[in-house]
This record gives sequence, structure tokens and C-alpha cells, in this order.
Amino acid sequence: MTRVIVDRALCQVHAQCVFAAPEVFELDGDDQLVYVTEPDDTLIDAVEEAARACPVQAISLEEV
Ligand code: SF4
Repeated sequence: MTRVIVDRALCQVHAQCVFAAPEVFELDGDDQLVYVTEPDDTLIDAVEEAARACPVQAISLEEV
């Protein structure tokens, strides 16, 4: 299982992660980032792509 961690102090809601992995990241009605903390293993490639795409490197992955 992989846990997704977004450093909200860094995140500037650029939403590149939402484009890279829409099953995991989305913006709510208030334009706040919400995300699945423990996504299915089939989504990990997309999450890694999202982490690469984030312009402020706010996304990290941790094996749990
Ligand atoms: S791409 Fe990075 S800065 Fe943008 S919303 Fe996602 S985590 Fe936040």
C-alpha cells in the first residue's frame, strides 16, 4: 500500500496533479485540493506522474 502525502504549506493549487491523476486528486467547490490518501495500486503510476508534474514538489509517496 502506498500513502500519498501533499504538503499543504507548499501546495499552491496549480492542479497539475488533477490533470495527471484525476482518480486521486481533485479540486472541491472551494478550489481546495482533496485527494485519496491510500489509492489503489493500479493508480500509482498516475500518482508518480502527478508528483513529477507538481511544480512545487508538494506530493510525496510513502510505502506503508
Ligand atoms: S500540482 Fe502540486 S501545487 Fe498543484 S494542486 Fe497538485 S499538489 Fe498542489
